[in-house]
Amino acid sequence: MNNDINLLLQHSETFFKVIRDIYHYLKDSKYSGLFPNLNKTNKSGTSKQTRIDHKRKDIVGSRIKLHIMKNIYKSKYLDKRDGNVKCPDCLREDFIINLSTPRKRSKDFHHSNGFSEGNYNRYDSNALFSMFAQNRGNPYFLEDIIREIESESDVLKCANHHRMIHYAEYFTYFRKLIFWEKSPKEFPYQDIFVLPADIIHILVLICLGNFYKTKTKTKRENIAIKLRFINAIKKKYIIDCLYDGTCLICGEFNTKNHLPVFDYNHLYEMNELTPREREVRKNVKIPMLYNTCSCSEIVREMEKKYHKGGYICSNCHFVIHRETANIKEIYDDQTTIKVVLDEKKKVIRKFRQNLVQNNGLVKDPLRSEKEQYEVVMNYLFVLYKISRKKTGGVSRKELAEQLGVKECKRGFEGRKFLEKYVKMVPGNRWSPTLYFLTPEGENVVQLMQYFKEYYKNLKNQ
Ligand SMILES: [Zn+2]
Ligand SMILES: [Zn+2]
Repeated sequence: MNNDINLLLQHSETFFKVIRDIYHYLKDSKYSGLFPNLNKTNKSGTSKQTRIDHKRKDIVGSRIKLHIMKNIYKSKYLDKRDGNVKCPDCLREDFIINLSTPRKRSKDFHHSNGFSEGNYNRYDSNALFSMFAQNRGNPYFLEDIIREIESESDVLKCANHHRMIHYAEYFTYFRKLIFWEKSPKEFPYQDIFVLPADIIHILVLICLGNFYKTKTKTKRENIAIKLRFINAIKKKYIIDCLYDGTCLICGEFNTKNHLPVFDYNHLYEMNELTPREREVRKNVKIPMLYNTCSCSEIVREMEKKYHKGGYICSNCHFVIHRETANIKEIYDDQTTIKVVLDEKKKVIRKFRQNLVQNNGLVKDPLRSEKEQYEVVMNYLFVLYKISRKKTGGVSRKELAEQLGVKECKRGFEGRKFLEKYVKMVPGNRWSPTLYFLTPEGENVVQLMQYFKEYYKNLKNQ
């Protein structure tokens, strides 16, 4: 009666509405656990009601998740000294910030069996809530769900390390090239970006064309993979230039070991933008810019108000957007609540201090002169091969013979970046144009050869 609910009924519709109101009222009371979920086909929920349902889902689901994280595998993830649940990979990497209290919830159960999209986060708080809702009558729900997860040998990971398992496949294969990892000392290049853009593109082509996982794919599939590959190089380059390659908030995750964990976080919420700005943000997402823009162009876009923001790791991203919602109902302990709220403030402050500001260092290391990398690649390989057998230069005719084609219409002319690699002696009526590899040219072809061999020999480990 105090809540304006009375049972003076006239029509069945009124009756229905009244019962629904009582239901919602009791569901939000201390008896909440006793009520089954409303049948979904009742489209009678108000938007306020939907909001409350979402909230409840988050609170109950999160509490279940926290309970499981603490207790699963006889509490093996729980550090009894500080009461925190810890990601084993973060422990292995000696992280501090990512193991601390405020990052309690940015964790997932990695499903060891099957990498399909649907399995990515099959025990997140939403899913756990749904399972709970379907098992209301089961007093052993928590024990059962823990046993189920254990029987699947699922492991706990922070959001970042979880992503590394699922989205790092190509990253792991191609880090050899992207990060210049363990490349032999005889090549005088400290990283990939000292090479001309065309050579970088050629090297990417060599990786894809010789690596067992990509060489069998169709041309179309490989175009998509190549684009992702190039975009990953661009992303690494931009984060390295702007933030020295680490997450600008925690400073623990870095591009060298964890490139796939970086998210772009916008400074302004949608409702802080004008309708026009909102429109631009919606239509052109940052990852889309990578497909068409050069690095410096991407950074220029990031400085515009509608895209203003910066790259942070997904654990830190979670702290900004998710960690504090409904926090007072999720944790009972006042100290935890305070620490988590403080952390969010600190994270946002740090983020604002480190927004993208073009420091002038961002150039365009991947903007090439001309495409048709394959042609140049083949010419260079063949020129190298012939030059090793004879001196005195190589003609187009010889190139064509070695390549097994009728003629080489295009020579090495017209590409500025080749000037330091290939010396040209123009021909006349009596003698053909001759090409010579310079010492630097030899070095670069050896580098190409090196990556070709490396990817050819990479077997399924
Ligand atoms: Zn971790
Ligand atoms: Zn971070």
